[in-house]
Amino acid sequence: MRLYENEAKRVFEREGIAVPRALGVFEKAEDVGRAVGAGAPVMIKALVLIGGRGKAGGVRRAAGGAEAAALAADMLGRRIRDYPVERLLVEEAVEASGAAYIGVTMNPADFNVTVIVSPAGGVDIEQVAREAPDKILRVELARNEAALPDAEASRLAAFLASGLPGGAALTGALKEVVARVYAAFQKYDCKVAEINPLLITKAGPVAADAKIVLDDNGLYRQGGLFHLLGLTTARHDVSEPTPNEVRAREAGFKYVDLLAADHVKDPSKLYVGLVPGGAGYGIFSIDEVGNVGDRFFGGRVVPVNFMDSGGGPTVAMVSEMFALLFDDASVDLVITSRFGGISSCDIFIRGLVACLRERRHAGKRVVPVFGRMVGTDLPSAREFLERAKRETPAELEDMRITVGNREIMAEVIREGIRYAFDRKGWA
Ligand code: GDP
Ligand code: MN
Repeated sequence: MRLYENEAKRVFEREGIAVPRALGVFEKAEDVGRAVGAGAPVMIKALVLIGGRGKAGGVRRAAGGAEAAALAADMLGRRIRDYPVERLLVEEAVEASGAAYIGVTMNPADFNVTVIVSPAGGVDIEQVAREAPDKILRVELARNEAALPDAEASRLAAFLASGLPGGAALTGALKEVVARVYAAFQKYDCKVAEINPLLITKAGPVAADAKIVLDDNGLYRQGGLFHLLGLTTARHDVSEPTPNEVRAREAGFKYVDLLAADHVKDPSKLYVGLVPGGAGYGIFSIDEVGNVGDRFFGGRVVPVNFMDSGGGPTVAMVSEMFALLFDDASVDLVITSRFGGISSCDIFIRGLVACLRERRHAGKRVVPVFGRMVGTDLPSAREFLERAKRETPAELEDMRITVGNREIMAEVIREGIRYAFDRKGWA
């Protein structure tokens, strides 16, 4: 569960880390203008659960109320990497002579808590790692101590201070901040506790940005934190969800995008969306589509998603599962499979057919759908499918659903890929 920046700052502030003075959180540009008035310069920051806001126009500086209101109006209409900006955090701008990075996370390979610091803060830490790896110090704590051992804290602070203006005089203050970020990570069951940038001001280090991702498995221990932040329900798994993931959650099924939100489509490849029957089949489908692509199509096939309806979906939910993929411009083909156990082939095929008919009539995007169904309610599903194809052949033109299990899934996938490549004139 990811906290918003203002929430993460309250957590760090409670742990004794200085943060910029906040004027508030606003939803209306006029309110921002009024709050800023003739006051000091402010930073206006989009409250979205995604990083890299600065580069995307989601962090702006304003000298006074009128400018702040104008910037706020502009930002409130925007989307940042597809996330609508609905609320703005407004804080006094901090004058800084340097910017550091402090992050605490867990090494997924060995579960060691890991502290990463850099005096080259304010930019993406991955970029620093690539371009100036000597400006990063990484310390792994194999014993997972509740408090950062003093020797490690000193070493991390000295490394930071050596690369920052202010130098050695800053070491003590930096050591405190590093130890406090570490303590917060432990105390609140975090997956990530990060300050980027920690700005160096005349009054000492100030956390100008804050990121905290809580471990969902530890939420039951965090009643105090929920109380502090005024939260009543958990925002499960909202750490940087993609728009498709948000849409699926709202519709009530599980969905994971396999490609990065900012991936660029390779025009020589075929991107395959998957509507499988069940979670296991979902994982199998990802693997099998990749394998068939590697074996028969020179590796030019990319599975794009995991999906699972979880139990017996309704006709409307099945329709929405397909609609989500049809609406995704990166999807060229949908591979589907219904192994009717808990769920019914009848409901599945009705949902698919309804989706295709509705979208064709509305002039909405569709892509070829290849798949297979077998199991519960197969006779009525077969009857429905045959009738549907007779009644609306044009709407169902690009749909090939094999009934029964005489054809193996790999063959269905291969035919679908072949068809989709041919249709695009590439094969
Ligand atoms: P992010 O891009 O989502 O990580 O958003 P940040 O909160 O880190 O803001 C982006 C950048 O704006 C930071 O890296 C800083 O360079 C700058 N910034 C943010 N707040 C302040 C501030 O109070 N004073 C100054 N001087 N720069 C700031
Ligand atoms: Mn930042």
